[in-house]
Order: sequence, then C-alpha cells, then structure tokens
Amino acid sequence: MSSLLVDNIGELVTNEAGRGEGGPLGIRRRAALLIEEGEVAWVGSAADAPAADRRIDADGAAVLPGFVDSHAHLVFAGDRAGEFAARMAGQPYTGGGIRTTVRATRAASDGELRATVRRLRAEALRQGTTTIEIKSGYGLTVADEARSLRIAAEVSTETTFLGAHVVPAEYADRPDDYVGLVCGPMLHAAAPYAKWIDVFCERGAFDVDHARAILACGQALGLGVRVHANQLGPGPGVRLGVELGAASVDHCTHLTDADVDALASTRFDCMCADGGHTTTVATLLPGAEFSTRSPYPDARRLLDARVTVALATDCNPGSSYTSSMPFCIALAVREMRMTPAEAVWAATAGGARALRRDDIGVLRPRARADLIILDAPSHLHLAYRPGVPLIRQVLHNGVPL
Ligand SMILES: [Zn+2]
Repeated sequence: MSSLLVDNIGELVTNEAGRGEGGPLGIRRRAALLIEEGEVAWVGSAADAPAADRRIDADGAAVLPGFVDSHAHLVFAGDRAGEFAARMAGQPYTGGGIRTTVRATRAASDGELRATVRRLRAEALRQGTTTIEIKSGYGLTVADEARSLRIAAEVSTETTFLGAHVVPAEYADRPDDYVGLVCGPMLHAAAPYAKWIDVFCERGAFDVDHARAILACGQALGLGVRVHANQLGPGPGVRLGVELGAASVDHCTHLTDADVDALASTRFDCMCADGGHTTTVATLLPGAEFSTRSPYPDARRLLDARVTVALATDCNPGSSYTSSMPFCIALAVREMRMTPAEAVWAATAGGARALRRDDIGVLRPRARADLIILDAPSHLHLAYRPGVPLIRQVLHNGVPL
C-alpha cells in the first residue's frame, strides 16, 4: 500500500469543529496529513508525521478540503455571451434564455456535449473543485434528458434530473401534459443515471402543485430532492423543499420570515462537535446575482437563524457562467457579509451537507483525500485576494493533479 505525506502545512483547515482554532474550520497549525488508498489515514502535528513512501512539502502554505460545488449545469451547447452583454446594457433577466440553450443542446451531438462537460469539469478541478454536482435540464425531451445524465454520470456520481427546468416551447400551452411526460417516461429514462431530482419552482417555470407532483414521483423512484427556489421573487419553493425533506433548497434570494423559520425547523441538534445542522441546506449561488446584476441573498439572516448554508457556482451558460468556487467565496464575503471562515466552510463542508455526504468537505481519517494546497499562508486569502489563481496543487482521491 503506497502512502503519501503532505508535510509542512502552515494552516490546515479540517472542518472538524472543536478540533482546533477557527471555530467550524477546525484549524491546525504546523500540521501534516497522511494519505493511503485515496483516503486520509492520519492528521496531526508535522513534528509527529509518520514515514511515507512519498512526500509533498506544502512549504508553510494553507491546505483545505477540496471545494464541493453542489449546484452546476454543465451539460449544454452554445453560449449566451450576447444575452449577458444585453443584460449588462440594461435588459432584465427573466430565465427565458434557457430555451435558447435547449435548442442548441438538442441540436448537438453526444460528442459535443461530452467535450463541454469534460472541459468544464477539468476547469473546475484546476480551481480546486473536487466534487461537482451536475444537472440535466437543457434537453427537455425523453432522449435528450437521458443522454444529458448519461454523459454527466461519466464524470460525477452527483447527478440531478432537472427535466422540470422550464416548460419547453412545444408544450407552452399545455404544461399539464409536460408535467405528465416529466413524471412518466422522462423520469424513467433519466433515473438510472440520476441520484437527485430538482425542479425550478418559480413564476414562469413550475408552480408549486406541479413541482410537488414531479418531486414526489422522483422520490418514489428513490431520488433525493433538491429545489431551485425563491430566486426571482418570493414564492413557495423553499417551504415545498422543507415539506419534502429536500437535501437543499437553492438560490434563496427572496425569503420571508416563514421561509427562514421553515428551514430552521429542520435543525438536527446533536452532541457532535459543531452542535448540529439543518437537514435542509440553503445553498446560495452569488454568481447568479453577480451575472444578472440582482440583489444578493441575505446570508446573515440564514446564519443567524442557524440554518446550514452552502455556496455553489450555479455554473450555466445563461445566468452564471463561472466554475470558480474562490470567486463565489469572495462574493459571499464582500457582497453577502459572510466571514471568510463561514464562506470557506460553506464552499466545502456546506456543499457536502447539501449532497448529504460526510466523506468529503472534511479532512479527517477515512475521509476522501480531496484537498487543495493554496499559494497562500491562510484560507483568508481566498477572499482577500479575489481573482488571483491561488490554487497551487489539487489532490483528488489522493492523487496529485
Ligand atoms: Zn441552477
């Protein structure tokens, strides 16, 4: 069994709350970390580091868990740079541009879609994202949704069926028929390649009754629930997600007190080091607000109510064409008043919670050896030095890239 020691770590973010400084980040100084068989085998003081077959000298840099991007749409064709330019010139975002990408995606070959997914997956990995969730939702036919998920499943185990992204143009005047298609043949074709089901519950997309029906059909087939909720205005999406036991409700830009209370009510208090968490995570996607020039979600209100918060990119060609978790961390700190520690936690452990995973987003024995060595002495630099490529090296399943 080959072993690899990451040695001489100046600041190790473990996300083991109560096991060091930095609150939930569980920071250790002058640390080392041993990897065996793709897993963390040992974490401790560099002075006590065991012998290993190979060694990486972190040279005093910060090391943290790989980013967990729990919300991305990577299976599509074409781009919408023109729409972005028009928006920056004053046109509002409505979500209607999704249909433009649907047309391009349907017309693309499997090879073209696969090349885009792999290019974006590699781009994210270079920026420290070791786990990425990938949604369908630009096919919106039985065959195109199934192939989108088949291609997504080649690069990620966290795949999400989003046949209910928008009602496609050919069903515009008969949405009930489209919901029937999504719940029936489309779901059955997609489910073998999907772990999750998601619905865009928003005015102009799917109303709460349609969304509930679709999510319930997915649950009956064993898929976990996620919801695009309360992005463009207030609505019932967040409370629907809580009602159905969703792992995550995503966007959460327009919340009422009842929405926040509903999320907080899912809190699972325990004797664990971080004192528990909410079972439905609020996943915030500040890249979307940035790219649509919209008001940011009120992260402080959620954190003060002790709701578990995750950060993700929402990488998609329309409303947030970034794969950069460091960019989202910087936005969360500058624009959403999260502390750097809260933002780093949300981009790692928070994302893991949003995917109901306890083997990632944390660096402790038996966790996946997914980690980032920064070109910086502290996690603070991720927000302090925005736009600067600070990812020196990524290890994925214990393998240095
Ligand atoms: Zn999305």
